[in-house]
Amino acid sequence: MKRTFSERLAILSDAAKYDASCASSGSDRRGSTRQPGLGSTERSGICHSWTPDGRCVSLLKILMTNFCVYDCAYCINRASSGVERARFSVEEIVWLTMEFCRRNYIEGLFLSSGIIRSSDYTMEELVRVARVLRLDRSFRGYIHLKAIPDASPDLLAEAGLYTDRLSINVEMPTETGLNQYAPEKDAAGIRSAMEHIRKKMDATKEKTLTGRRPPRFAPGGQSTQMIVGADAATDQDILSSSSSLYSDYRLKRVYYSAFSPIPHASQALPARRPPLLREHRLYQADWLFRFYGFQFQEITESRPDGMLDLEVDPKLSWALDNRAIFPVDINQASRELLLRVPGLGPRSVKVLLTTRRHKTIRLDDLERLRVSLRKIRPFITTPDWRPVKLIDRLDLKSLFAPPPQQLSLL
Ligand code: SF4
Repeated sequence: MKRTFSERLAILSDAAKYDASCASSGSDRRGSTRQPGLGSTERSGICHSWTPDGRCVSLLKILMTNFCVYDCAYCINRASSGVERARFSVEEIVWLTMEFCRRNYIEGLFLSSGIIRSSDYTMEELVRVARVLRLDRSFRGYIHLKAIPDASPDLLAEAGLYTDRLSINVEMPTETGLNQYAPEKDAAGIRSAMEHIRKKMDATKEKTLTGRRPPRFAPGGQSTQMIVGADAATDQDILSSSSSLYSDYRLKRVYYSAFSPIPHASQALPARRPPLLREHRLYQADWLFRFYGFQFQEITESRPDGMLDLEVDPKLSWALDNRAIFPVDINQASRELLLRVPGLGPRSVKVLLTTRRHKTIRLDDLERLRVSLRKIRPFITTPDWRPVKLIDRLDLKSLFAPPPQQLSLL
């Protein structure tokens, strides 16, 4: 039975929702299907993403096809899955993108795909969408393509010319996990494709012999996604893997996606999804080594099982385990030390460093900066505040952790 265009759009946009690497939100928007009005974003496949300068952009997020010749155990679109299948042609995706853009539903496209025929064939089709949009239809919006890791380097190189961002999913945090759940994928191949993209991005910064800059290449950088909780990898394994991806391939973002149980899944996969809080804590830890000067080892070193504390955020957890360095004098401490104080972020530290050049910081100055006094008090001193024995209290964590809850019997 031939599916209608709308049916295929519903299938392919739903199939794309498992990919977190464009940071979509699930926000509800007003529709205008049953009443007159303009500006509806309540259409299949529209998600929201944030650009590096903080703007929120609406993206058409779809798969070109959810047919796939691979059989990755954690994936709803794997070859052995019984899901409904659909496919869009290159021309249909181009038309859809242009029409949605004209109607102001979207400002860009996030396009991924299952692998059909071969990696090169699939990548060629994805690149063709981007090429036609950019060169033939003069599309100026944002394009994020999911690259196929074992596609030819020439195709990856061409993809970067038309896209703002490229991403290659590592999927499993460890090579053991990848071999177990996606044996057709090759961890070395994924890393070599990331390396290739990184070199291409680096090359755009150097002028050629003629003094010209090479054409721009994926100026929004590359990103990846890791599935959390499908295999036995601990948070320490996950953060170790992210840390090396950031440093080796200069990734812009690693996205963590809590594993969602899928119908008729392999027995080896967990039947329940991990707590969403675990995903949240990993994002917080990720920020610590990207913006706060932490080494990933520090974040989990005091955790015997290698898992982040779910009760308090990773920075507070680290501070509670390293009380010997606290309290710090807010008027004397270095930037590096201030960044380790729970409740202070890079922005508030910057303001503190500027302010204390011409004035002594007191507790009410911190309040004016909207710093949480409840969180910061045990860890700092100011001329009008000393935590005395607060920092040594054995039950200090209980002041921050949520109160224990009685489990329901039903
Ligand atoms: S290659 Fe991608 S789409 Fe295909 S089964 Fe694996 S994860 Fe799913």
